[in-house]
Amino acid sequence: MCGIFGIFGHDEAANLTYLGLHALQHRGQESAGIVSSDGEALHAHRQMGLVADVFSAEALAKLPGRLAIGQVRYSTAGVSQLKNAQPFMVEYAGGGLAIAHNGNLTNADKLRETLGKRGAIFQSDSDTEAIIHLIAHAHAASLEDRISQALNQVQGAYSLLILAPRKLVAIRDSFGFRPLVLGRLKNAYVVASETTALDLIEAEFIREIEPGEMLSIDEAGLHATHPFPPTRLGRCVFEHVYFAKPDSTLFGESVYEIRKKLGRQLAREQPVTADLVIAVPDSGVPAAIGYAQQSGIPYDVGLIRSHYVGRTFIEPQQSIRHFGVKLKLSAVREVLRGKRVVVVDDSIVRGTTSRKIVKMIKDTGATEVHLRISSPPTRWPCFYGIDTPSRQELIASSHSVEEIAKYVTADTLGYLSLEGLGAAVGDRGSSTFCNACFSGHYLTDTLSPPLRHEQPRALA
Ligand code: AMP
Repeated sequence: MCGIFGIFGHDEAANLTYLGLHALQHRGQESAGIVSSDGEALHAHRQMGLVADVFSAEALAKLPGRLAIGQVRYSTAGVSQLKNAQPFMVEYAGGGLAIAHNGNLTNADKLRETLGKRGAIFQSDSDTEAIIHLIAHAHAASLEDRISQALNQVQGAYSLLILAPRKLVAIRDSFGFRPLVLGRLKNAYVVASETTALDLIEAEFIREIEPGEMLSIDEAGLHATHPFPPTRLGRCVFEHVYFAKPDSTLFGESVYEIRKKLGRQLAREQPVTADLVIAVPDSGVPAAIGYAQQSGIPYDVGLIRSHYVGRTFIEPQQSIRHFGVKLKLSAVREVLRGKRVVVVDDSIVRGTTSRKIVKMIKDTGATEVHLRISSPPTRWPCFYGIDTPSRQELIASSHSVEEIAKYVTADTLGYLSLEGLGAAVGDRGSSTFCNACFSGHYLTDTLSPPLRHEQPRALA
């Protein structure tokens, strides 16, 4: 779970990268970093925390040049510490190099072992560092050839930005797990995880970086190649369900419209007699609107989300966790009292949030709570860059829908079907998206598990 942004050929490269990262903050809240290039040397600033807290005007002023890349990070591999904050920056025989990664490598353990035997010393425990060592070890003259040699040894999910003093390289793995788009701002090229970052800086959207494409940008212009063996597509369906920002166009479709379609399909598959439909904000809102439109049941605002908790609130102990959800969400008594309520959320992971939300709604005097989820049961962990817990912690991997309904104390619980999800995202043959978190159909041979977090996790 990360957001990446890069720009080539603008006098305010670092400032625009700061704004781009701000627009991508939803993709990662643990650390933020920018590396810029003045054409000769690279300059870096990275810290733990949110974009607005990490970068002061003084910090940005120390990032000169017309090229920059940046990343916001939410760790899926490696613990949440400064040493893992990106972009990584190194000096190697070929000069300075910085790298920002969204995704997760599935053969990282093996690569680290092999590289370690060759004498590589790792400064972080992030999977991304292996890519840098592979580039440094590659036997090729050009940076592009080094990168393609390196990445042909790598498996898993990677949307990458690589910065050299006079070059920006953008790469997307052949499955296209994670998004990456190209835009233009006057004479500058911009690359970002989502179109929302282009919109913020008023850059024009050109196109997606294609799955399996390497795009190299320098003074001579754009140069596109496809150096990786083609595979089937495996675009992450969970980006549409939960992760991406609703105003983005993702994999060629509006995230907002797709989420509304998920809600409509959910209403068709899981109807119920009720007085009103509410959303679990923010991610459940478009699906709840779709559910209301399709069912004809009025939509209302029954839960309010605090904008001041953020996703960084630490939940150190079980006793405080309960409090945590209340810090984030509060129920509107006047809307809910005496009502039969449909509550729409995008997913259930551990089930702990849903349980607290149902209780909160019932405490207002609502007479019935019908929980509707705009995706299928999340039964399998993601190895491709979304932070999901192990199978044991995913409630749907070991419990039936009826058991989950009982646990969360909902009167009824209904999930969207896998077929319904596929239809809503336009994937009828189920061949262009990765839905492994719902189906268990992983797309790579290797599945090296992301390192588990050693620190208290953020409240999502
Ligand atoms: P849980 O209490 O674990 O079932 O959490 C469910 C909530 O977490 C839902 O409201 C989702 O919107 C949200 N969610 C789903 N996937 C993730 C994720 N990978 N990281 C953080 N939050 C998530």
